[in-house]
Amino acid sequence: MVNIPEKAIQKQCRSTPQLEFFSRSVMLTKTSNCRAVSLVVSHLCKSYPVRDGALEVLRDCSFELASGERLSISGPSGSGKSSLLSILGTLEPATSGSVMLNGTDISSLSERELPLFRRQNIGFVFQDHHLLPQCSALENVLIPFLAVGRITPEQRHWGMELLNRVGLSERLDHLPAELSGGERQRVAIARALVNRPALILADEPTGNLDRTNVGHIGDLLLELTDAAMLIVVTHDSSLAERTQRQATLDGGLLVVG
Ligand code: ADP
Ligand code: MG
Repeated sequence: MVNIPEKAIQKQCRSTPQLEFFSRSVMLTKTSNCRAVSLVVSHLCKSYPVRDGALEVLRDCSFELASGERLSISGPSGSGKSSLLSILGTLEPATSGSVMLNGTDISSLSERELPLFRRQNIGFVFQDHHLLPQCSALENVLIPFLAVGRITPEQRHWGMELLNRVGLSERLDHLPAELSGGERQRVAIARALVNRPALILADEPTGNLDRTNVGHIGDLLLELTDAAMLIVVTHDSSLAERTQRQATLDGGLLVVG
């Protein structure tokens, strides 16, 4: 592996909003993938201030997920799907209501505590992979650890293992520009899993992929998330149908099956 320019990458993590959640300290959590965790979302509302008042995006959304459960959310563009994931991922505050993740009320966490909580509990997969272009596939997977300090041999081995599981053991040293779109998204999935999060949030993870890759990425998300909870926003009905539970978001109302 090439030498990672640690200081530069840590700085870039802090200055890139989508990577901000990698930027604060936590050691590799040794918790098992089997821990009993749950998500309780109660009466969640979200409004954005706009010029002529408030834009109400989420109205009284409530649902629960048990450890290992997978939920897909579909709905028209602009219906608040990304806003909901941002709140669940602690990237954005709710206007009212509560989110309890693994027994913690996320609104009780201070600005200082949030990044650590995120890194210990939540993995993100975005439509656009948000990989760092100057880093190899393996380095990108290890970025959540690199944000802390030096990478241990165990962490490096786990990163390689994850890339092996997503079928990229032959691509460890490739830069994002040297990977296909599907491969880049597989790296992003490995990165989301590297901290063994309790909750994985995927926002249209197959939105930029061709038909074949949609299937592959869907398979990986469902296979690799193990006992973690998975919430995947998707317009792809073949992916949505494969989660145990499906929800629709429309007009600010979430209907969970
Ligand atoms: P979706 O992901 O379902 O397409 P979003 O959650 O991104 O929807 O956005 C929901 C609505 O909220 C959209 O109408 C969008 O324009 C609006 N919105 C999103 N973020 C903001 C913001 N920061 N300020 C004002 N309006 C916003
Ligand atoms: Mg969206």
